[in-house]
Amino acid sequence: MIGKKVNFRISRVDAGSSSAFLVHSDVVNWILLQAGSDITLIDAGYPGQASDVVESIRQIGGRPEDIRGALLTHAHVDHLGGLVSLSEQYGFDVFMDPVEVSHARRDHLQQAGPADIVPIAYRPRVLRWLATVTPLGVLSRTGIPDAKPFPDPLDLPGRPLPVAAHGHTDGHSAYLVADGQVLVSGDALVSGHPISKIDGPQCISNAFQHDVETARRTVRSFTTLDATTLFPGHGPRVDGSVAAAARRALEVS
Ligand SMILES: [Zn+2]
Repeated sequence: MIGKKVNFRISRVDAGSSSAFLVHSDVVNWILLQAGSDITLIDAGYPGQASDVVESIRQIGGRPEDIRGALLTHAHVDHLGGLVSLSEQYGFDVFMDPVEVSHARRDHLQQAGPADIVPIAYRPRVLRWLATVTPLGVLSRTGIPDAKPFPDPLDLPGRPLPVAAHGHTDGHSAYLVADGQVLVSGDALVSGHPISKIDGPQCISNAFQHDVETARRTVRSFTTLDATTLFPGHGPRVDGSVAAAARRALEVS
């Protein structure tokens, strides 16, 4: 057991014979797609949250052995971290946008480091965040050596559909799930963050963006989607037009 307990809450959207679950923790989110007993995992929190991912699967009546494959939105430690040990322990593949594969393998790293954080580290919110995420493994540099690009066809439980969403990292991907009702937006569009003062749909702090201009173009592309629920990478779910959420994010951040 490392660090103090980080709470999480689970909510769901049903679509025919499958369900999509947002697991919203205090620091980052992950998503479970369940079709029958089969499960697709999208992201898996920090390294120190792997046991919470397993616990969340048990809470929806599943088992980690039922994971048929995982998808990654992007290879930052707060989304990839839990997948390192889980994919090894349960033997499932981790798929992502082809551009993100080398990042997930840690051939290079596009992640905020001390040089990005130090200028804002005097803020109480940032200090509190660092105190929470340091014991969860925020400094881990471990990647997934056999990270894989999306296979064609991508045939995973819950039938997730990748939506290119580059900018936050070069190969960031969003996913349409629950028959297109839900956009899993990763960090391309969030609804809160421990270091943000804004509540509701927003672009994540520039300190964490690899390419701010491309990231904003991605949010503009979300304004054409028909999805009616947002499962973001950080912050609670947002019900209602995802296109409107994207427009709001561009206005407030
Ligand atoms: Zn993140």
